[in-house]
Amino acid sequence: MNLSDRIHDRTVRDTLQVLRYEAGLSKRVLAHLRGLERDLKAALADAGDIRTKKRLNALLKEAQEAIRDRYAGAQGVYDQEIPQFVSAQAESMRATLNGLVKVDIFRHSLTTEQIQAIASDTLITGAPSAEWWAAQSSDTLAKFTRIVRMGMLQGQTGDEMAREVRDMMGTSMRNAQSLVRTSVITTNNAAHMALYDANADVLKGVQWSSTLDMRTCQECGALDAKTWEMGEKHPMPSLHFGCRCALLPVTKSFEELTGIKGLDDIPESTRASMDGQVASSTTYLEWLGRQDAATKADILGPGRARLLESGKISLSDLVDQRGNELTLADLRKR
Ligand SMILES: [Zn+2]
Repeated sequence: MNLSDRIHDRTVRDTLQVLRYEAGLSKRVLAHLRGLERDLKAALADAGDIRTKKRLNALLKEAQEAIRDRYAGAQGVYDQEIPQFVSAQAESMRATLNGLVKVDIFRHSLTTEQIQAIASDTLITGAPSAEWWAAQSSDTLAKFTRIVRMGMLQGQTGDEMAREVRDMMGTSMRNAQSLVRTSVITTNNAAHMALYDANADVLKGVQWSSTLDMRTCQECGALDAKTWEMGEKHPMPSLHFGCRCALLPVTKSFEELTGIKGLDDIPESTRASMDGQVASSTTYLEWLGRQDAATKADILGPGRARLLESGKISLSDLVDQRGNELTLADLRKR
């Protein structure tokens, strides 16, 4: 295996660990929206006869405040953790790459300002995460308002409206989870790209990997294994909600690195593998097949490892990391 293939293997592993972190972060975020469901149902139950304009307006005002506060809480969890996540990811990728080469060729870390900027300004499929949170919050308010007004017009009971609120909140929570997942993956890619840019002196370019993009859309599938030179314009993953694509660094060959100060002692064992070639494209199952038993068990969890052997499991089940969460501290410990 050349160095690029080994980097690819480790990047897939890294993305899986990111998905495990994301599963835990989603839970912490969704706790706020579960609270919102309780708030809205309680407000509805306490509202009394909403056919009077005064009571209806009081209910909508209470709902508006609850939605604003709970979404602020949900977004707050995300905003608080993401800078630490960016920092942990950039540093762990740097350590991983240096570990593979056995010499610190990636010499530059991200600055605190860069980390903050990546956390707050990265565009999540076209808009900063703050805009997505605001859009989801106002969507939830619009839907709740519609449920109450239609319920009133159609003479629905409180229970009937509460059921509609429950269904609506189910959708809101799925949207929030999808936003968290896509934001985490996109931010991870932005952190890695900033790290590659900071260490451009040792890189030939970057390469797209769709290995973990289970629902690979045509656009992502067509990009798999495509490469760009450093400084060349290229698309950034995630390209769509739920995209799990990643960018891999393609290092210069050993010959191309000679002459760069401080990089003369790359060990013999690494030199040959630094052939400047790009990584071969690989499917998730091929990747999984190459991992040792401990890694498989770690990524799958013991139950799913058994299901895999018996063939009772689908590909997307294998990538799902719910129930297998990692904390920020775990990410830093790697
Ligand atoms: Zn993708």
